[in-house]
Amino acid sequence: MLTIGILDLQGNVSEHFEITTKALKNFENDSRVIKVRNSAEASCCDGIIISGGESTVIGKLLEKTGINNIIINEKIPVFGTCAGMVLSASKTDYEQPLLNLIDMEVKRNAFGRQKESFEKEIDILGYKFNGIFIRAPAVDQVGEDVHILSRLEDKIIGVKQGNNIAISFHPELTEDTRLHEYFIKEVLKCVE
Ligand code: GLN
Repeated sequence: MLTIGILDLQGNVSEHFEITTKALKNFENDSRVIKVRNSAEASCCDGIIISGGESTVIGKLLEKTGINNIIINEKIPVFGTCAGMVLSASKTDYEQPLLNLIDMEVKRNAFGRQKESFEKEIDILGYKFNGIFIRAPAVDQVGEDVHILSRLEDKIIGVKQGNNIAISFHPELTEDTRLHEYFIKEVLKCVE
C-alpha cells in the first residue's frame, strides 16, 4: 500500500489532500492519502507533502512533534510547495528551523510587496502550468546536485534533489494534478 501524507500542522492541507487523492486515481497501486500530525503518522508515509502556510510556524511544529527527525532519518521523499519549499532548504534569509533536504538558499517573500500574490503561466517539466504565487519564496542559490525544474524571469521557482521536489507556487489551488503525479512517480521509485 502506497501512503502519501499531507503534513497537517498549519496551512493549505485540505486542498493538497483533495488533489493528491485525485492524482492517485491515475496510478494502479493500492494507495491512500493521510493527514500527518505526529511522528507515528509520518513514519507510515512513503512520501510527504508540505503545504504552503507560515514556514516559521510549521518549522517549529515539525521540531515539537519530532516529525522533522522522521523525515530526515527515514529519508521520506518530500514535495514542498511555497512554505514547504522554504522548509526543504538548507538556508534561508530568515532564522528558522529547516529540514535541510535540498542544497539551496531560499529567499522568503521573494517577489516583492506590490506583487505579493499573482498568477502566471510558467514552464515546468516541458509543459505550461498555471502558477499561483502567494507571498512566494524563490531560490537564490543551488548546490551542484540540485536540478532546476523551472524559472520565472531571473528567479528559480522549482527544484529537485534526489527524490525531494520544491516549488514556489501552489498547484493544490488548481485542478491540475500533473505535479502531484510527478511527485508520486518519485515516491514509487523508492518503494518499488
Ligand atoms: N511567505 C510564507 C513563508 O515564508 C510562505 C507563503 C505561502 O506558503 N503561501 O512562510
